[in-house]
Parts: sequence; C-alpha cells; structure tokens
Amino acid sequence: MTETNVPTVELNNGTRIPQLGFGVFRVDPARTAEIAGDAIDVGYRHIDTAAGYRNEKGVGEAVRSSGVAREDLWITTKLANGDQEHPDDAFQASLDALDLDYVDLYLIHWPMHEKGIYADVWKSLIAIAESGRARSIGVSNFQIEHLERVIAETGVTPAVNQVELHVEFQQRELRAFHAEHGIATEAWYPLGGGSLSDAPVLKQIADAHGKTVAQVVLRWHVQTGNIAIPKSNHRERMAENFDIFSFELTWDDMQAIASLDRGEDGRRGTHPLQMR
Ligand code: NDP
Repeated sequence: MTETNVPTVELNNGTRIPQLGFGVFRVDPARTAEIAGDAIDVGYRHIDTAAGYRNEKGVGEAVRSSGVAREDLWITTKLANGDQEHPDDAFQASLDALDLDYVDLYLIHWPMHEKGIYADVWKSLIAIAESGRARSIGVSNFQIEHLERVIAETGVTPAVNQVELHVEFQQRELRAFHAEHGIATEAWYPLGGGSLSDAPVLKQIADAHGKTVAQVVLRWHVQTGNIAIPKSNHRERMAENFDIFSFELTWDDMQAIASLDRGEDGRRGTHPLQMR
C-alpha cells in the first residue's frame, strides 16, 4: 500500500486492512463514481460497497480513474441476502460489476438466521478465497452463535465481522469474542448512521482537542481497535472524517466515551435475527 497516515489492522491471514475506510451505503449509483472518486482523492484507500447497494459499478469506475494503483486500494463487497443459494455466481457478478480481477474482502452480508444455510455459504466463500479472487473473506452482522457455528463446521475463522457499532452501541461481548478468536471488528454506522450522539461530553472532548464530534467519535473507533467506514456525500466531511490522525484521546476521554454505551437500547439498525 502507498504511504498514507492511516493505520492498518492485520487480519488472520496476514493481510493488512486500512483502519479507516469509506462506506457507500445509500450513495446514489449514478453519483458513486464521483463520490468514491472524491474519497480516494481526499486520501481514503479503502472503499466498502455491497451487491445490495447497487453501486459496485461506480466504485470500480472510481478505482480505475483514480490514478492510484489497484494494489494500493482495499475494496470490500458483500454477498446479497437473496443470493445465498448461489454465492459463486453472485461473487462473479460483483467482480463483473466492479470490473476488477479480485476484491480485497468478501463478506456474507447477513447470516439470514431463519434460512440457516450460512455455514454452507461460508464454505463457498472459502473456495472463492482459495481461487484467489478474494484476498480475504469474512462476515457481517454475525452474532456469537453464528460465528461459533461457521468456525466449528469449517475450521476457518472469518477474518472480519462487520457489525453495527457506535458510541451508544459498543458491542462489548461480541468484541471480546472477536478478540479471543482473532476476528477483526469492523464498525458500520460508525457515526451513528445519520445523527451523531448529542451527548454533551462528546462536545466537551471535541472542544478540548479543537476537533469536531465526528472526529472524536472516529478517533475513538481507531483507538478502540475497530475498523471504521464512515460515509458522506460531501467532500468537506470526507476530509473532516479523514483528519483524525494528528490527535489522541486521553485515557479519561476514552473512559467517558465508554460510559455512553447503552447496550441493546443503543441499537439503531436492524437486529441480525430480524433480517428476513
Ligand atoms: P454513518 O455512521 O457513516 O453515517 C453517515 C451519515 O452521517 C450520513 O447521513 C452523513 O451525511 C453523515 N455524516 C458523515 N460525516 C459527517 C460529519 N463529519 N458530521 C456530521 N454528519 C456526518 O452511517 P452509514 O449508514 O453510512 O454507515 C457507514 C457504512 O457502513 C455504509 O456506507 C456501509 O458501507 C456500511 N454499512 C454496512 C451495513 C451492513 O449491514 N454490513 C449496514 C449499514 C452500513 P452526508 O452524507 O450528508 O454527509
């Protein structure tokens, strides 16, 4: 990877993922090439898309027109829920839409607990990784029971679990399980998914460092060890969210933010067991 000031997290297969990436959920497919292109221009080297976002094509266009070497970029995409019965075809369709030879990370988007075939789907992802077309494989929205099952049935531990995680929903138990098993934690809704927490302590911490609340929250993710993938349609905010490597939260700041966790009450998105 080229030198940017973004730290990396080593995955269980030895590859290194940039700890700060750019998410494109709800980015208009017609504007994705431009918006992901702006993100790369600002300095992001990691883009998170999904077949379900319908904007993989724009991400691929942004990669090709960026002038940044492919090996210096990290591209993640995900298997759509409706494609769990045919992961190989779906994966190839994603590569075709991206118009890339490989992705850096391929994730099962949701376990689809009731369907109950996620362990077989995981076996297909293992084969895809062995083919060299995905450098790393992982899961998203998996709970401990889902992780335990795929590990028990295949002996292959997902490199990453991408889950809802923000200051009001800190996923302590899941993170402890990840740490025990060498699974990297990736945070979706890193900024809370649209409305930042209005906890006064965040504003106080931000003021003390001369930073914004969004920057404090993203810095908290980095210091916690999470991979974070904030989204913005606005270049100024992309730059704001990227400018988090020149300051450090104190131990007291980290403790104060830890106390904002509301456990399950803090969840804002869909519960994994409720995704149908
Ligand atoms: P985020 O937590 O990244 O929040 C994005 C929202 O915050 C947008 O409304 C954006 O507005 C706003 N915002 C961005 N920067 C700032 C800032 N500096 N100050 C104030 N507001 C700001 O939520 P997302 O839903 O986008 O999640 C991030 C990524 O996670 C997604 O893009 C996707 O890649 C992934 N994801 C994965 C899921 C999964 O199931 N695996 C589920 C959901 C998300 P604006 O664009 O107008 O700037």
